[in-house]
Amino acid sequence: MTQSAPTVPHSVPSRDESWVYFDGEIRRYADSRLGILTHALHYGTGCFEGIRAYWVEEQQQLFALRMPEHYDRLRQSAKVLLMELPLGTEELCSITTELLRRNGWRQDIYIRPLLYKSSEEIGVRLHGLKDGFLIVTAPFGAYVDIDNGIRCMVSSWRRIDDNVAPARSKCTGIYVNSALAKTEAMQNGFDEAIMLTHDGHVSEGSAENIFIVRNGALITPPESDNILEGITRATLIHLATEEMGLEVVQRCIDRSELYIADEVFLCGTGAQVSPVIEIDRRRIGDGEPGPLTSRIQADYFAICKGRNPKYRDWLTAIY
Ligand code: PMP
Repeated sequence: MTQSAPTVPHSVPSRDESWVYFDGEIRRYADSRLGILTHALHYGTGCFEGIRAYWVEEQQQLFALRMPEHYDRLRQSAKVLLMELPLGTEELCSITTELLRRNGWRQDIYIRPLLYKSSEEIGVRLHGLKDGFLIVTAPFGAYVDIDNGIRCMVSSWRRIDDNVAPARSKCTGIYVNSALAKTEAMQNGFDEAIMLTHDGHVSEGSAENIFIVRNGALITPPESDNILEGITRATLIHLATEEMGLEVVQRCIDRSELYIADEVFLCGTGAQVSPVIEIDRRRIGDGEPGPLTSRIQADYFAICKGRNPKYRDWLTAIY
């Protein structure tokens, strides 16, 4: 008598067993090692991306959000750092798709491509060094609260200036600026930091762009205020103007405008759309997530989860 094959429950790999892209091929995480003199580890000479993929249970599908846009931005970051991506955007997207499939992920995932100076030698510079490239994926939940709202402080750390190290390139070394601000905020009992530019204008959160709402209009700092040119920021500007008929103004924002804003929210691939309910111990609006923030958040998630056919081309279906 032949027995029918047992149903094998899906097993999510442990981190060590998970598949990564490293040195031009797909390998196990545990088999992907770097030498301890790797340039990028010592000098922060790398650039990276953060891409989200959303698991949608009812469709049994994993959707990567705006993946080509992230690889295009990585190419721009690389250019600033005199580095070159080894592959084109289309190829990078198909490798990422293959990697996610191999891992068999059935949950929300964070995708981390990293281009880095891989030469194992001493000496601070960008030129005359080898580039390494890897992609690693891992399960990922909420980065900051998205339901109840977060409490922020204006950081005592200023946002790094374009002429010090350009924030628009997602350079690994620059993230020490974000790490200082984030830890200061958390050690003081807040959830997140908001950083100012050197001339005192609002720049961004430690890993998020910022929007404020005043008199029904959205206001966000311009790209020249030392922000990362966020893909979520661009997505929300599009939704606000094209779908919600809102006015979006990109202009410098004063610190005190944060305190009197009707609503404030942070956004990013990790943060998604996170309502801010308090800044420097001043309640924003009535201290609850605001109505426009909630609408934008709902529209954003509908797109991320493949529930808005109009924006289906912003998603890459993995399975
Ligand atoms: N600013 C900084 C400093 C960030 O690290 C991020 C996260 N990548 C963002 C803004 C948001 O960018 P995006 O929407 O492209 O994820």
